[in-house]
Amino acid sequence: MKPAIVWFRQDLRLADNPALAFAAASGKPLICLFVLDEETPGDWTWGGASRWWLHHSLASLDKSLNGKLVLRRGNAAKIVKALVRETGADAVAWNRCYEPFATARDTILKDDLGKNGITAQSFKGALLHEPWELKTGSGTPFRVFTPFWKAMRAMTVEKPKPAARNFNLLNAKTDKLKDWNLLPARPNWAKDFDWTPGEKSAQQSLYDFLDDIDDYAGARDLPARPGTSRLSPHLHWGEISPRQVWHAVQTHGHSRGNETFLKELGWREFCAGLLFHNPDLPAAPLDKRFAKFSWRRSDEDFRAWTRGLTGIPIVDAGMRQLWQTGWMHNRVRMIAASLLIKHLGIHWLLGQRWFWDTLVDADLASNSANWQWVAGCGADAAPFFRIFNPVVQGKKFDPRGDYVRAFVPELGALPDKFVHCPWEAPQPPPNYPAPIVDLAAGRARALAAFQALKG
Ligand SMILES: Cc1cc2nc3c(=O)[nH]c(=O)nc-3n(C[C@H](O)[C@H](O)[C@H](O)COP(=O)(O)OP(=O)(O)OC[C@H]3O[C@@H](n4cnc5c(N)ncnc54)[C@H](O)[C@@H]3O)c2cc1C
Repeated sequence: MKPAIVWFRQDLRLADNPALAFAAASGKPLICLFVLDEETPGDWTWGGASRWWLHHSLASLDKSLNGKLVLRRGNAAKIVKALVRETGADAVAWNRCYEPFATARDTILKDDLGKNGITAQSFKGALLHEPWELKTGSGTPFRVFTPFWKAMRAMTVEKPKPAARNFNLLNAKTDKLKDWNLLPARPNWAKDFDWTPGEKSAQQSLYDFLDDIDDYAGARDLPARPGTSRLSPHLHWGEISPRQVWHAVQTHGHSRGNETFLKELGWREFCAGLLFHNPDLPAAPLDKRFAKFSWRRSDEDFRAWTRGLTGIPIVDAGMRQLWQTGWMHNRVRMIAASLLIKHLGIHWLLGQRWFWDTLVDADLASNSANWQWVAGCGADAAPFFRIFNPVVQGKKFDPRGDYVRAFVPELGALPDKFVHCPWEAPQPPPNYPAPIVDLAAGRARALAAFQALKG
């Protein structure tokens, strides 16, 4: 019997993997392939933290496949076609990705394979619903979250399926994972990353989180508490499917925490839909007026922001959490992004790019949509003139300063009252910078720039 190729992409799991299940059900011997394609994504090839994650996730998948994962590097469409020729495979299956470069490539590839008599099948594995399944009453894609969520919540989510069993895996020529050099060497900035990529660990994170989900509605905004699931990188790489998460939460109970959490999965789908329907989302404001916004250029301020040296404690804590752990709490992502865009007046594209390189959950749809949301130029965005005050935010969501102290040790000894505004302390710590921007002046400058845009 001719073999079938299962092309793994952002679905690095065995359970609830429709492409794998389809190929396994055919009874054919399987070749499991992953391609490191740094060509097709163009500007959006994986950043450093994503590469770190990918290395470990592939190692874990390979183990689950008894060491038979085939690794190849290069243009993915060319490699799939070459592997078909090399192995005589007559079927290729994959789960869909929704980045514009991926959909363009896959459409052509499917057509090419079909013309050559190869069965090419793609499946829904990364989202709960296809972006084209959710439409407004007038048949257009949603641009506002609340009606999107109402429509999505009313839809049925298919049950996840267990891992396919008893398939026969074939070997094929493969690269060695370590030769891909996905891990940082000198310096090894990932040495303190406290993550275990892979399907097993994704399942464990979900079940650990379910114990606390009843508190999620309140705890999710407190960065000092482990109140969120930290599933984002596992979901991004498809080590767990959103169907598995959705149904586990539904089975667990029906508290306010559960419902709030499901809504966050709704945001993930909303962002994916925005990117699918607006392929320019990572590069251009959805609200076209913002194309003329007069951004400031300051390499010095930008650098201080990336290093966590702005002198604004909650922002610095967030940026250092990002650097040290590859992840940042959602509330703090919003505050840090807002400071960059509004008080510092620096283009959201620069912040988006920094996150792209440093987040282990860097996701083209969620990252772009959220940066545009904070900048006020996206779909259903926070209005530009609503400017977060990072001191007020810090005092509200990190009242004792535990989060700030965990990442900014220079502020460790300050009384709680000054931890979010050390410049007001009788003796500000000498080794912590003074704010690089006066918050009132930065806010006024942002509002003036916005006013000029409105004309
Ligand atoms: C400026 C900015 C950039 C962001 N960039 C990314 C990114 O590159 N990748 C990414 O996955 N998320 C991104 N987010 C969204 C959010 O911050 C993270 O998904 C969340 O912090 C992940 O932690 P968690 O898994 O513990 O989330 P939980 O609170 O446990 O939420 C569960 C899941 O819901 C999804 N989710 C939650 N919030 C959002 C949201 N606002 N938008 C889309 N999906 C959401 C995620 O998949 C998350 O894992 C960004 C947010 C901001 C403000």
